[in-house]
Amino acid sequence: MRRGIAILGSTGSIGKQAIEVIGLHPDRFFVTALTAHKNADLLFEQVRALRPRLAAMTGVEGPVPIPDDLSFCEFLFGPKALEEAAREAEGEDVLAAVVGVAGLKAVMAARNAGKRVLLANKETLVAGGEMVMNACPAGTLLPVDSEHSAIFQCLQGAGPNQYEQILLTASGGPFRTWNKERIQTATVQQALGHPTWSMGAKITIDSASMFNKALEIIEAKWLFNARPEQIQVVVHPQSIVHSAVKFRDGAVIAQLGVPDMKLPILYAMTYPERLETGSKPLDLFEIGQLTFEKPDPEKFPALRMAYEALKAGGAACCVLNAANEEACYAFLRGEIPFGRIPQIVEAALQKHGALPAKNLDDIDRADALARETARAMLE
Ligand code: NDP
Ligand code: MG
Repeated sequence: MRRGIAILGSTGSIGKQAIEVIGLHPDRFFVTALTAHKNADLLFEQVRALRPRLAAMTGVEGPVPIPDDLSFCEFLFGPKALEEAAREAEGEDVLAAVVGVAGLKAVMAARNAGKRVLLANKETLVAGGEMVMNACPAGTLLPVDSEHSAIFQCLQGAGPNQYEQILLTASGGPFRTWNKERIQTATVQQALGHPTWSMGAKITIDSASMFNKALEIIEAKWLFNARPEQIQVVVHPQSIVHSAVKFRDGAVIAQLGVPDMKLPILYAMTYPERLETGSKPLDLFEIGQLTFEKPDPEKFPALRMAYEALKAGGAACCVLNAANEEACYAFLRGEIPFGRIPQIVEAALQKHGALPAKNLDDIDRADALARETARAMLE
């Protein structure tokens, strides 16, 4: 039987790769809905090829002219369209592949409609942590982020054994070997030059600042019910070991593969089965060496902030995420130097880190206050 899947953020890096793997297995999947923010041309092309019944453009308020040959598809517009698509799409699965906390309400809508969520959109879990997990009983939220997919894969077959530690790998980004002073003044172009992964702009900047790993520490806490001290970041520049878990007998189980998101995307779609991804297989002889380093907390304060936000609880992680989103886009627009990003997040955490996060209203409020503080620091 074919599974229906809605792809939120289909025009992005993850969305396009999901469409590629679906194309390899047309006997297994059909696409029920597609969403873009503003990229109408690509969305139309995807609708033409995949023939979903529903499509949405969240970054456009009013209806835009729809090509005549796409009249089989209903188009929705505006920010609310994301939730509507998540809720109304036919089928069992929703792939959350939009960027930023914009995905949170859509993920909640998908869960309220009884859908299984395949989660690439980590900001949703960072901001909504407890509330999202409460809405997601076992088996209804599957990780797509490569590290979390790796951990999830490593835990298969662990039986009743609890892991002792999560070894969350990080490439270290383009500034791994730079000194602290040089990192402060890195340009947009330098920060966009990721050594091992090709991804959307926001996560690429987050990888350079290591806020991506900060978000992933928080993501791992929620997905695997980990205590913060059980999560150890391991810098691994080759990006071949996608993460590992350590058990009480000392065994470390890791998942290895080429740096390619098609495997984690498809695994979330077919779990516990595995299908061909069409990617180049891993050749250990070609790789030759795998190396591991401790992260440098002086150069990358983001990691410390993630642990502090987890310890603070409440809306602290939501504040960290919102301030980072603001700082990240301000850096991309050339408004602030790279070194300003962690300062902005730190300031927002100090000011709003004790807010509650019991429900969507709390989270919206903490998110808005953090953005206000971040924006005030851009001037
Ligand atoms: P991209 O920037 O490539 O794509 C983002 C997608 O979301 C696009 O379809 C975009 O539409 C849409 N979008 C942008 N802003 C909004 C908004 N405000 N509301 C609704 N939709 C919006 O991002 P990635 O694919 O790289 O990343 C997506 C998510 O997956 C992120 O949370 C990221 O952290 C996570 N992730 C990504 C990985 C990767 O390899 N790329 C790896 C692991 C996790 P449009 O094209 O019209 O702008
Ligand atoms: Mg990742």
